[in-house]
Amino acid sequence: MSFTSSVERECPKGCDSFEIDIWSYIRADKDEWLKEKVLAGDLNWATCPHCANLFFCDEIVIYHDPADELLAFIYPESYRKDRMRWQKKMQDDALRWKESRPESEKWNYPPKLFFGLKEFQEFLRGEEEMKIEAEIAEHLARKLRLSIYRVQPWFARDHRIPVQIPCAPAPREDLKESMRLGLTALLAENRSLRIYKKYLDQLRDPRGTWSRPPSV
Ligand SMILES: [Zn+2]
Repeated sequence: MSFTSSVERECPKGCDSFEIDIWSYIRADKDEWLKEKVLAGDLNWATCPHCANLFFCDEIVIYHDPADELLAFIYPESYRKDRMRWQKKMQDDALRWKESRPESEKWNYPPKLFFGLKEFQEFLRGEEEMKIEAEIAEHLARKLRLSIYRVQPWFARDHRIPVQIPCAPAPREDLKESMRLGLTALLAENRSLRIYKKYLDQLRDPRGTWSRPPSV
């Protein structure tokens, strides 16, 4: 499902140009090894056939992980100064592409914009840390016999809230109160779950405006 594109490149040392294949579309759920390459900062490097110089090719990469509701457009670092223009182009391209897909493959989450693979690599590392925290929370929630409210992944990501929120039974099926009780029990077991602690603080804030996150 992932694919490469052929591009012509010049070695920074000034050798003759040559053609190479670079990864331009990554389906992270199908090709996990490519996700690992991104995390390792190992994607889209080329070796000059003339002088063996190794250099990075900063090209457009689209990274798609439907299970995680993540669609990222990664433009070259040099495009950053023209953010508004690329933001618009990304929206247009994503929409056109979505319209061309069969109904079963259409997505309902907004695309995300990045400049340079390094920025995306850091974002992805943060995502991995969050996943580890979510796994610990899920394990503890099961142990504490709490139920879990599953938030749509793209919404949780964009609002920096947990993707799985432990809930305890509350009077009158009050979801906010359920979450408050669930998170209090969870954090009594493990205080180091940062994103859960932050969300509990939000729930407790009397001036906070809480609204029900969309569930899966
Ligand atoms: Zn060279």
